[in-house]
Parts: sequence; C-alpha cells; structure tokens
Amino acid sequence: KKNNAHEPEFLQAVHEVAETIIPFIEENPRYQGKMLLERIVEPERTIIFRVPWVDDKGEIHVNRGIRVEFNSAIGPYKGGLRFHPTVNLSILKFLGFEQTFKNSLTTLPLGGGKGGSDFDPKGKSDNEVMRFCQSFMNELYRHIGQNTDVPAGDIGVGSREIGYMFGQYKKIRNEFTGILTGKAMSYGGSVIRPESTGYGCVYFVKNMLAVQNDSLKDKTISISGAGNVAQYACEKATEFGAKVLTMSDSSGYIYDPEGIDADKLAFIMDLKNVKRGRISAYAEHYQSASFYEGRPWAVPCDIALPCATQNELNEEEAKILIQNKVMAVAEGANMPCTPDAIEAFQKARVLFGPGKASNAGGVATSGLEMSQNSLRLNWDREKVDGKLYDIMDNIHQSCVTYGKQEDGFIDYVKGANIAGFVKVADAMLAQGVV
Ligand code: NDP
Repeated sequence: KKNNAHEPEFLQAVHEVAETIIPFIEENPRYQGKMLLERIVEPERTIIFRVPWVDDKGEIHVNRGIRVEFNSAIGPYKGGLRFHPTVNLSILKFLGFEQTFKNSLTTLPLGGGKGGSDFDPKGKSDNEVMRFCQSFMNELYRHIGQNTDVPAGDIGVGSREIGYMFGQYKKIRNEFTGILTGKAMSYGGSVIRPESTGYGCVYFVKNMLAVQNDSLKDKTISISGAGNVAQYACEKATEFGAKVLTMSDSSGYIYDPEGIDADKLAFIMDLKNVKRGRISAYAEHYQSASFYEGRPWAVPCDIALPCATQNELNEEEAKILIQNKVMAVAEGANMPCTPDAIEAFQKARVLFGPGKASNAGGVATSGLEMSQNSLRLNWDREKVDGKLYDIMDNIHQSCVTYGKQEDGFIDYVKGANIAGFVKVADAMLAQGVV
C-alpha cells in the first residue's frame, strides 16, 4: 500500500502472510469481498503520545509512546510493550499484525495489539526507569482496561517495568484489575509466565521432531539472545537432554562447546537480569567458552532458535546453517528470519517454525494470567505448565492441518498463517463491516 511505503517491517510482515492467505482466499469464496483483507491489514486504532520524564540530574527528556490496537475481533487487544531505541510505528505495526494471528492460534479469546517507546532502559537508574514508566502510564491508562486492551512485556520491558506501570495505573484509577500481564507473583502474576515463551518454543520443536520420530535428546542447539525468551528456551532444551552451545546479546555471542548447563544458565540469568551486564562476561568466567562479535549462526548445530530480535538471521546465515546440516529452526523472537532465509530453509526441507506459532506460548500464558485475575485465583505450576503444553500441541496440530504438503513436508508458515487467519476472518465477517 502506498501510504505504508515508509514502513518496511510492516510491509514485510503483511507480505509474508498475504503470500499464503491470498491463494487460500481464492479457493474459499467465503473470505472474498467485504474488503476483508483491506480491513485486516489496517489497525483499528493507533495512539501516539508524548512521554516527558526527568533524569537523575534534573534534566528533562521527551520520548514517543505508541500503542497500536490492531484487531479486537476475537477479544481485547493483547500484545507487549517494547522499550528500545529502534522502536517506531513500522515495527509496532508489524508486531501488532503478527500478534493478531498468533493470538488467534492460541485458541484463547485474545485480539492483537502492540506498543512501546523509543526509550532505552539501558544505562538508566532504577529511579529513571520508574519515572519513565509512570509518565508512559499517565497517558496509556485512558486507552487500556481488562476488557479493552491488556499490554504485556517485550524487549526492554520485564517485571520491573511492568511493576512500575501497574503501580501508576492503580494510583490513577484507584482499581486493582488485570490491566497488564507479566506481573510479579505477589500482585496477580501467573506462575510460568516468565518461562512461557522459551518453554513454549521448545515444546513446539519437540512436536516438530516427534512428527519425524525424533527427539531433542543429545541435539546441539544454537540460541541467539540472552534475554527472557533465550534464557528459558535454554533451560527447557537442556532439561530435554539437548546441549545449548551459544547465547548472544547486541555486542556478540558466546560459544561454549561443553554446553550451557543449569549452573551456567544461572550465571547468565544473574548477569543479564540482576547485574544488567554484557554476555562477554560469560567467556571471562568460563574457560570452556569464547566470545565473538557478530551472530552465532556459523556455529554448527542441529537446531537453531533465534530469540533476540527481528531480521537477525539472513539468507547467507541460513545457507551456512543448512550447510552445517541444521534440522530444525524455530523462531523464539518475532520475525528474526528474513524472508530469503525462510525460503532457503524451506527449499532445503529444514523444519521451520514461524514465530507466530513457535513463540505463542508467552501470550497464551498471559491469557491464562488474565483468566486467573478474573477468577481472583492462582493456579499452580503444574496446571499452568500443562495448559501451556497443550496449547503448543494444539498450535502445532493446526499448523499440520493447514500446512501439510502432498509430499508430506509440513509448511508451518502456511499452516500458521491460514489457521490464525480463519478464526479472525470468521469473527470479522460475523460482526459486519465495522
Ligand atoms: P529481552 O529484552 O529480555 O531480551 C532481548 C535480547 O535480544 C537481549 O539479549 C538483547 O541484547 C537482544 N537484542 C535486542 N535487540 C537486539 C538487536 N537489535 N540486535 C541484537 N540483539 C538484540 O526480550 P525478550 O527475550 O522478551 O524478547 C526477545 C524476542 O522475543 C523479541 O523479538 C520479542 O518480540 C519476542 N517475544 C517475546 C515474548 C516474551 O514473552 N517476552 C513473547 C513472544 C515473542 P542486549 O541485552 O544487548 O539488548
């Protein structure tokens, strides 16, 4: 679309979905007409606002806040908030668009949305982050609500930021409701929510391998990122008997041929979540590991899990992974693989799990957090993990239903796009042209 020409990430996400949806619509007249496609690619509402805040020296800064309320056909808008200097409307629209289909796949009643700011929490004191979060919520509060829009965390927004935003909302509205997910356990969070995206991604890979009569046992895995998703993907993969060789951050990656076991992962969690340090410190601490600049995709592995950010695995890197006989790639992050990289994987018949399916465990567990908040109950770990496992199993099954090719190869991209689309499209058609 001409009026989105300056939004490359958004166009990339729409293009990827349209490629599989348009042939499906052509075969299914029910979805033709009523400007359905035109409506589905246009956010219902976008809110852009000023976020002024004062640093520790008393200087005033101004950032931009955005919330894209993309689609509410099947439930309240739901999707994370990202605080990162690269945040812009194109990135948030791509994420909100993807989120709509992902949330549909979870089988839960969740619409799609995404938001955030170009604020960079790195290098800021706790008090500065708190003042920023409070200022952000001073505007956002009027647009969200437990039945309207329920944001969560994403890059740069963890439990600290969610806590400060929740506190400010409660102060302004004088009500204690589940308007954010990813809350700490002491005030309405859900067990397993921190783990859920990483765990869910590994459950999805387990299912992909099971179709091939294979398992994660003794597989080598390259993970990118060292944040929330990467950490718990590493934990679950190791629990299933795999060996995780790499993790990374924006400065480079560490390669540990002996594997990042539970003790070493505890070191990374302390380094990233508490000390907020750089991943290179791992290689300074463990002799078995080395630190390199760049991304980890040249390290030979059986499975690759990109868990950092968008467009972090390109065609050239995909070809190196293929040469090194990678069997499966599953996106823990949103859109980490470029379209050329995905094409290369699929041509080489590498099992490829797209983010809207393989990383849906996070939002699914956010949905379970919303249910618990509404019930004013806390479910135990076993129950939430069991539900997460079943949801990932369902998503995998939906991908197989819509994505199985004549030669038996499962096109998970096609399967996820169509399965996600059908539910949203049916709801939009039922609700008329609104
Ligand atoms: P975190 O902020 O916890 O971690 C992000 C990690 O990615 C960090 O290691 C960070 O390194 C690295 N990173 C961020 N930006 C870049 C960049 N431009 N180049 C290289 N590395 C980068 O975020 P999450 O783990 O929560 O999110 C990671 C991805 O997963 C995102 O794409 C997010 O949208 C997606 N996702 C997250 C979900 C969740 O539940 N958290 C749910 C579904 C998807 P550094 O420390 O140097 O910044």
